[in-house]
Amino acid sequence: MFDTHCHIDLPDFDEDREEVISRAKKAGFSHFMIPGIELDCMDKIIQITESNSNIYFASGIHPNNAAELVPDWAEHVRKNASHPKCKAIGEIGIDYYREYCPHDIQRKVFSQQLELASDLGLPIIIHCRTAYEDLWPLLSDWMKQGHGRKAVLHAFDEDAEKALLAVELGIMIGMGGPYTYKKKNERRIEIVQVVPMESILLETDCPYLSPIPHRGERNEPAYAALTLAKIAEIKGVSVEEADAQTTANGLDFFSIDKHSI
Ligand SMILES: [Zn+2]
Repeated sequence: MFDTHCHIDLPDFDEDREEVISRAKKAGFSHFMIPGIELDCMDKIIQITESNSNIYFASGIHPNNAAELVPDWAEHVRKNASHPKCKAIGEIGIDYYREYCPHDIQRKVFSQQLELASDLGLPIIIHCRTAYEDLWPLLSDWMKQGHGRKAVLHAFDEDAEKALLAVELGIMIGMGGPYTYKKKNERRIEIVQVVPMESILLETDCPYLSPIPHRGERNEPAYAALTLAKIAEIKGVSVEEADAQTTANGLDFFSIDKHSI
């Protein structure tokens, strides 16, 4: 299994990070992706990826942290992206749910990072919350304008129709803990039904968004196995099949050699 979105660099994991990683490995996780959220967190993220095999990172500014950037922030994102363990630009996007940053600045910082990603030929990890109407035109234009561009809508929480439009453009759909919820979850079940297995990336977004039965607790990569089991159940395939496909999707998306470290 591949947890394609885990914030194991955050202080929530300072006490037991190594145990969290080894628990995930015991549960069958072979690969991990840590998205960047601000410049200040990058040294710690890079240190974690350098001292652990099969843990990679993305370089980027989260929309909630786009308000007070240093003037040369984009150069820092670019420099971090040149590290051999950096496999994407992210997480980037638009977030109108938390009002941490003026909307026009968010859109500008997102657009600048889209350009940076195409410049560097890297895939992008997208965060979007209650802002899909503004994000979609920018994202779909970006996808259409270049060959081989790759994007994942992480923690996708829209609807089946929007998911299909994204899949048609080759965009991947990131699925995590909320897909296991039991109540009022028809919308997410429908998304799993319509999105082809080849377009799904497994993720936790830990320490957030724990799957059932850990809802409300700190999330960790090992719990993504519960999300995978739910996806397999909805799809009517074996967990092994769902594992093989989503892991291959993650390796392919981030251009990671199966045997690399
Ligand atoms: Zn995230």
